[in-house]
Amino acid sequence: MLRFIFGTIIGSFLCLVSQRLPQKISVARPASYCFDCQTPLKPLEMIPIVSILRQKFRCRHCGSKIPLETFLFELFCGGACWFFLTEYTFENCWYLFFILSVLVLAVIDYRYLIVEMRWFILTSGVILLAAIPLNIQIYWAHPLVIVVCFLFLQIVLPKSIGLGDLWVVGFWSLFLSGFELLLLLFIASLTGIIYAVYHKKRQKVLPFLPFLFIGLLFIFVRRYFFQF
Ligand SMILES: [Zn+2]
Repeated sequence: MLRFIFGTIIGSFLCLVSQRLPQKISVARPASYCFDCQTPLKPLEMIPIVSILRQKFRCRHCGSKIPLETFLFELFCGGACWFFLTEYTFENCWYLFFILSVLVLAVIDYRYLIVEMRWFILTSGVILLAAIPLNIQIYWAHPLVIVVCFLFLQIVLPKSIGLGDLWVVGFWSLFLSGFELLLLLFIASLTGIIYAVYHKKRQKVLPFLPFLFIGLLFIFVRRYFFQF
């Protein structure tokens, strides 16, 4: 239970990061406020999950809707902490950090159709630097394979994948085996296609990161059951 609560608090902060980063607002100041009426939130309105439920998904000042995404975001982070931190090892923390940093990227891509490079570079640096002392297996040749595949894809299907996605997959490939890489691309493509079929008319450009996120989450959960 404690792990879950801890996770929702992190989730609440990361949700704020995902809202402010693309708009170039500082994540430290000002304190949380309603995006519609700009009223700063009182401590009671900042309790993750509980506040949203108590206020029935509305701002207490102007009554504007708090998106369901915010709630799901906090819920997911709570669940992720509960799942990945069954044992408090540095390795588990590494997996948790990895998946939550990607969640922020995925949500920003979903909302704004951009890969937030500053967040990506910052978190990637931490992930890579931490992986070395933790003895997490690193496949140094994989990014090269990804780049070759990307160049090939650019010739066959120009503009099918953006440069931002290439950076992300290239970086992840450092930590994924060949089989896991194929699994990642398979799950991401499959869920992406399913999504595209259901939302045919609404969107022309598809964000790819949310689907890559689903793939990565699946792989990490799979590792958890098979390898730890
Ligand atoms: Zn408001």
